[in-house]
Amino acid sequence: MQPNSMLMKNRFQLNYIFALFLAFFSSKSVYSQEFKSEYTIIVVIDGPRYTETFGDSTCKYIPNMGKSLVKEGVLYTNFRNNGPTFTISGHTAMTTGVYQSISNAGKKLPDNPSIFQYYIKEKNRDKSDVYVVASKGKLEVLGNTSDKDWWNCYMPITYCGVNGQSTEYAGDLQTTNKVYELLNGKTPHLMLVNLLAVDSYGHANNWDQYLASLQKCDTIVYNLWQYIQGNPKFKDKTTLFITNDHGRHLDGHKDGFVNHGDKCEGCTHISLLAMGPDFKKGVVVTKERELIDISKTIAFLMKFNMPSSKGEVMDELFIGK
Ligand SMILES: [Zn+2]
Ligand SMILES: [Zn+2]
Repeated sequence: MQPNSMLMKNRFQLNYIFALFLAFFSSKSVYSQEFKSEYTIIVVIDGPRYTETFGDSTCKYIPNMGKSLVKEGVLYTNFRNNGPTFTISGHTAMTTGVYQSISNAGKKLPDNPSIFQYYIKEKNRDKSDVYVVASKGKLEVLGNTSDKDWWNCYMPITYCGVNGQSTEYAGDLQTTNKVYELLNGKTPHLMLVNLLAVDSYGHANNWDQYLASLQKCDTIVYNLWQYIQGNPKFKDKTTLFITNDHGRHLDGHKDGFVNHGDKCEGCTHISLLAMGPDFKKGVVVTKERELIDISKTIAFLMKFNMPSSKGEVMDELFIGK
């Protein structure tokens, strides 16, 4: 071998080793990225239209979120339910990362395992470390899946409907009280909360109470964030996602705000406000993101794998990205 080609070969090998070295450390840095967040809470305000939330530039029905909480986190103005725009399918999109047409009466389990199950399994957590607290009893199905490898395994605790009995609909006051009971006790590290009043008054064709309920939810999430930031156990250790399962028909389309369930702009356009110690503050993202991305983002934040999720990590949320 000529000295020149020896040199070339050595250089090639060195470059190769260097590239491997870089690849190893850059991939390692993704996995070993340290996050401050320890607790994750998803609050689902069930069924308001974007036109009454952040789509109204005065945010008059959500003054706390629209004027105060937006400064504390990242607001997505083009957030979507791109699957069936019903309650159960909207929630399972978030928790399984897959859009599925599923009984909206709670008669069927989701096809895919959830963030709750992946988290409990991979992190070897007790079921009491994960809670689903929902005003709607039928949302108990979020705790399980029909996937044969996961059915009845690694299930979170559910407290849904009247007295947590998984039946009927409970008031949002009961749900909120349960959330504070958990926060004040052995707090679960992952929790999903559903508040129903906005949706219920929408279906009842009660415009005034629909709006009043939205204002109440705005106060509930504001108080929750104040509680978190005022408590050393949670302050700068808690991530809060505030979103919706679906919107409602736009005015002039079918029966307008009374119902939902199709692919119209009103039903698919929802919002996400995400706050936490690892997220940027006061940022508005106009890029389209969707419900299934919540699952993958939580898996990334809480460091577990979620191979069946079809969502993407919402990288732009994170400080430094
Ligand atoms: Zn709903
Ligand atoms: Zn619609």
